[in-house]
Amino acid sequence: MQSLLGLDESELVQIVTGRGEPAYRARQIYGGIYQGRAETVEQIRGLPGSLHRGLGEEFEIGLPAIEREFRSADATVRYLLRLADGQTIETVWMPEPGRDTICLSTQAGCPVDCKFCFTALLGLARNLTAGEIVGQVLVAIRENRSAEERRLNIVMMGMGEPLLNLPAVIKATRLLTDPAGMALSPRRITLSTSGITSKIAELGCEPVRPKLAVSLNASTEETRERLMPITKKYKLAGLLAACRIYPLRPWEKLTFEYVLLGGVNDSDEDARRVARLLADLDCKVNLIAFNPGPGIDFRTPEPERVLAFQRILKRSFPCFIRRPRGRDIMAACGQLKRTS
Ligand code: SAH
Ligand code: SF4
Repeated sequence: MQSLLGLDESELVQIVTGRGEPAYRARQIYGGIYQGRAETVEQIRGLPGSLHRGLGEEFEIGLPAIEREFRSADATVRYLLRLADGQTIETVWMPEPGRDTICLSTQAGCPVDCKFCFTALLGLARNLTAGEIVGQVLVAIRENRSAEERRLNIVMMGMGEPLLNLPAVIKATRLLTDPAGMALSPRRITLSTSGITSKIAELGCEPVRPKLAVSLNASTEETRERLMPITKKYKLAGLLAACRIYPLRPWEKLTFEYVLLGGVNDSDEDARRVARLLADLDCKVNLIAFNPGPGIDFRTPEPERVLAFQRILKRSFPCFIRRPRGRDIMAACGQLKRTS
């Protein structure tokens, strides 16, 4: 069976006209999926019986199935989702007063070998399709119905490196922001990259794109190479140069994320170097204290160290400490590794 999820309106037009139906049926199907939240072809309203039957023989909507869910004491929920070919991925739902955030995966596993990240241990199974990316949003919203009236943020910070799956990420962003689709604001969608420099300019050329966050994680080339071996290919200097020429929209700021690893990259000197590296960028910095787990040998810094690091950066930029969400269920940053 082929999935309808992830197809844009022009692709749906081809399908319906190929069946001798008028093109406007495509809009009905599209609206039925993204606004009507149909989960089966039969649930798409207003189609003639013949089209329902014909489509139903060849197509399904194709939402991912929930294999398991894990609930944190802080109300975060981690979903282990099963895709059509049996691959599994994770999606995290983070409710907060006044707004909800969904953390999406863009790949099954990840090919980038960051030494502090649990997803890295999986390696890459495959890229996700646009339908599998938006499917995570539809499932998370369905499971948390009250969410619909609240402000929704999307972060592409789950499993995978989004810039290594850019076409599907962009297509998913278009579906999520299309007024006839999910109608979310692009200001509420953020993509985080480990620094695939060659793709940053490509992202900047897209008229519809998420906001950009870059995982900096070190203050020197040497430390970054050790923590994120991809730095050998995409040097820190080149990455920051790409950030400097990145075409920010008038309302946009770059975000840099910095994972603090006790005794490795969390000294005052590191903080001062970060301030110098980012000096001429219009940015904010999010600090993430290392989220621990089995098999990864780093230490979470003391809260006072994190605060001292923040104090230094705050002299130069807005700098926030990310509150860990769902650490107890392995749902926090870098902890996604398909545990069941
Ligand atoms: N692949 C992308 C997005 C997913 S990772 C990227 O690397 O940016 C999301 C964030 O979690 C990144 O900033 C990453 O540096 C951080 N991270 C990875 N492992 C972590 C860990 N064990 N503790 C805290 N943050 C971690
Ligand atoms: Fe991949 Fe991001 Fe984890 Fe690095 S931190 S291995 S890029 S998911």
